[in-house]
Amino acid sequence: MLIYTGGTIGMAADRETGALTPLDFNHLIACMPEFKAVPTGIDVHQFPQPIDSSDMNPQLWRRIVEIIAGLYDNYDGFVILHGTDTMAFTAAALSFMLENLTKPVVLTGSQLPIGRLRTDGRENLLTSIEIAAAHHPDGRPRVPEVCIYFSGKLLRGNRSTKINSEGFNAFDTFNYPHLADAGVDIRYHDEYILQPRFDEPMTPHFAMDASVMVFTLFPGIQENMVRHLLHTPGLRGIVMRTYGSGNAPQQPWLMEALKEATQRGVVIINITQCAAGPVEMARYSGGFLLQNVGVLSGYDATVECAVAKLMHLFGSQTDVDNIRQQMTHAICGEITVVTEPC
Ligand code: ASP
Repeated sequence: MLIYTGGTIGMAADRETGALTPLDFNHLIACMPEFKAVPTGIDVHQFPQPIDSSDMNPQLWRRIVEIIAGLYDNYDGFVILHGTDTMAFTAAALSFMLENLTKPVVLTGSQLPIGRLRTDGRENLLTSIEIAAAHHPDGRPRVPEVCIYFSGKLLRGNRSTKINSEGFNAFDTFNYPHLADAGVDIRYHDEYILQPRFDEPMTPHFAMDASVMVFTLFPGIQENMVRHLLHTPGLRGIVMRTYGSGNAPQQPWLMEALKEATQRGVVIINITQCAAGPVEMARYSGGFLLQNVGVLSGYDATVECAVAKLMHLFGSQTDVDNIRQQMTHAICGEITVVTEPC
């Protein structure tokens, strides 16, 4: 099943403005005659209004989950055509919303529209279809997880980040190995691919609560602004982007404000501003202080993953202690938890 949501892959230049705008699936197919030669049987579901993925939101994630859950038994795998801008958020969200996924869900798109001569969309789409249909000799799907295929790399969805706004090499996972590399052959790295409980059903989750903010520390950050943010009505969770291995300035006002927020039940997750490497809060005293005021380690999670996981847990649970506990454990391969000295 091919689900077309929009994105550059199916866009063309608007006649008046020249800016790229999403077109329907017929346009995409007309630009790609080789689609008909693919040996896999493919059905298509397209969003009524294809979007630029900057307009993606939790209601549309819910829609994608409804489509997949409704058709789950009829297909071997799912390919989602999606804009690159928020693809990593969607991949992370779907990984939590599709619990015990036993079939491939491969997101892909392109940097150049499919109608352009040098497009990267053809290869991305054709290889994604091949991956979504791939099986082991005993019939089990090769990659039963939510992943992103882009420019020769198959990546775990909830570990992925968009790293390049121009190059074809637009995605990577800095803290997890590739699930496969596609050259002349597709080489699967089976030891890194999730193995679900094949004898149990996939459980879809539809509710997401977006009462979450991301904030980035920087030298000179102001007390009144941080306090304002922490007192935002309805705020339930914060992804705090810290320095290096999870450090923050050691000013007492910051620690007091964070402590007051965590004691009120706001869940604060420490994610490093670095692209690679984990948070280790006990390594420096700035991180250690954060631990003492109730900030949780996000370990090696991406920002996209931490945001989606908070939304998923807030959508399905009210007990803050439970949510805090699950934020520090892997649900579907999204973090590598290491025990830190107290
Ligand atoms: N703005 C586009 C989108 O995310 C970019 C892309 O698809 O590459 O929909």
